[in-house]
Amino acid sequence: MELTLNNPADTDWAPQTKVDLQAFNTLSLPAQAAFYCQLQQISDLYAAQQFCQAQQLNWMLLGGGSNVVLTDDFNGLVMHMQLLGKTWLTPEQLHHPPAVNDDDLVYLSVGAGEHWDELVAWSLDQGAYGLQNLSLIPGLVGAAPIQNIGAYGVELAHVLHEVMVFDFASGKQFSLSAEQCELAYRDSIFKRQPNWLVVNVTLALSRKPQIQIDYGDIAAHLEATVSIPRAQITPQQVRDAVIVIRRQKLPDPADIPNVGSFFKNPVVSVDKAEQIRSQWPQLVAYKQTNQQVKIAAGWLIDQLGWRGYNKAGVGVHKHQALVLVQLANSPNKSTGLELLNLAQQIQADVEHHFGIRLAVEPRLFANTGEISIDAI
Ligand SMILES: Cc1cc2nc3c(=O)[nH]c(=O)nc-3n(C[C@H](O)[C@H](O)[C@H](O)COP(=O)(O)OP(=O)(O)OC[C@H]3O[C@@H](n4cnc5c(N)ncnc54)[C@H](O)[C@@H]3O)c2cc1C
Repeated sequence: MELTLNNPADTDWAPQTKVDLQAFNTLSLPAQAAFYCQLQQISDLYAAQQFCQAQQLNWMLLGGGSNVVLTDDFNGLVMHMQLLGKTWLTPEQLHHPPAVNDDDLVYLSVGAGEHWDELVAWSLDQGAYGLQNLSLIPGLVGAAPIQNIGAYGVELAHVLHEVMVFDFASGKQFSLSAEQCELAYRDSIFKRQPNWLVVNVTLALSRKPQIQIDYGDIAAHLEATVSIPRAQITPQQVRDAVIVIRRQKLPDPADIPNVGSFFKNPVVSVDKAEQIRSQWPQLVAYKQTNQQVKIAAGWLIDQLGWRGYNKAGVGVHKHQALVLVQLANSPNKSTGLELLNLAQQIQADVEHHFGIRLAVEPRLFANTGEISIDAI
């Protein structure tokens, strides 16, 4: 359906039309936005909201585009988050004052449009620690709470203090405490509240270096490279190690378009994990609390021979079975669907062999809004 553009009477604000989104998503999927705007100040949000209401338009919000699969042109308004700014806050300036004042903590309020990894680097330069394990995760700050980004034993939940939200349905702004964000493994309240846009994130960082190197290859890498006692390792050295390890393991979207992990690691009961282990003794799994076990989804996919598979311009990365990639950098609009078809085949194969249904991690969009892979 072709959409026509009528300005709302009370503003001369107007979005761009027919904007190419291929450069705005790290899978480099071809898609066009019927309407497109950048959100550079809060007033842009109000204008966009009024515009969508007046035009009865669908809308979607894009950050760095590193966790989205665009399967079609978007027949509505695509808003590109660009709200910038970093401000140190005193405990008295917080919307949710801490129960106990901890002199080692400093509070940093960050605009949703700031680049995540630049923030990590900047915070370490400022002597404010806690983000180093989350180095090199692509995307923008506003998306970090959405799936509670995590890597190398640290999640955003460990440092999040509060979030400022703009409700696109009501046009109201309000603050949520970290607890109210209901952060969990790759999950938060924002996945259940599609009208809530994160405009600002406040982090509680520490002036005291706190080192977490027990996950993945960080300790081994540091031992091999800097070889100093654990107590002397600095957050900057942890960041440097994480960057080297990530570059070795994950394809750079600039070279091979991808969205990182395509599936979440499934969490199952201990009994279920033991049942799988009886047939697959090498099972890679991590004990959780509450008698649950997190299974490495990449390992499951790898066992079934998918690593390195490719067909119709999409495939599974040759070194990392959890990462689906676009190989052809295609101008063909069916590529997003081809990718989801491949994801469905992998889901079915894993379910058939292991009795586990893998959940998709990135968010999927069709021409009027978000979709589920089961709707394909
Ligand atoms: C190579 C690679 C490695 C990755 N590694 C990791 C990793 O280690 N850990 C990890 O957790 N993730 C990882 N990711 C996934 C991704 O980088 C994160 O999920 C990131 O937070 C997405 O940020 P973004 O700005 O690109 O979000 P986008 O892809 O633009 O958006 C993702 C979703 O969040 C919504 N959204 C974005 N901004 C906002 C906002 N301000 N308010 C409300 N909703 C919003 C969008 O509408 C969309 O539904 C990786 C991705 C890649 C490509």
